[in-house]
Amino acid sequence: MEFEEYDFTRNPLVQNQVFYLESKCAFCGFSIVAHSIEELVELEQLHRAACRRSDPAA
Ligand SMILES: [Zn+2]
Repeated sequence: MEFEEYDFTRNPLVQNQVFYLESKCAFCGFSIVAHSIEELVELEQLHRAACRRSDPAA
C-alpha cells in the first residue's frame, strides 16, 4: 500500500470506553471515523480516490 505525502493524520480516540480511530485528510481536512484499522484503511482509500477526483490540480 502506497501513501502520498499529503496523506492522513490518524488519532486514536476513546469515548465511553469504546475505541475509535479518527483519520483526517491532510489535503482537504475530511474526517473519517472507524472502529478498526482495517475499516479505517479502507475508508482512507475510498476518500483518497474521491479527494483526487475533486481536485483537478492534484
Ligand atoms: Zn481529502
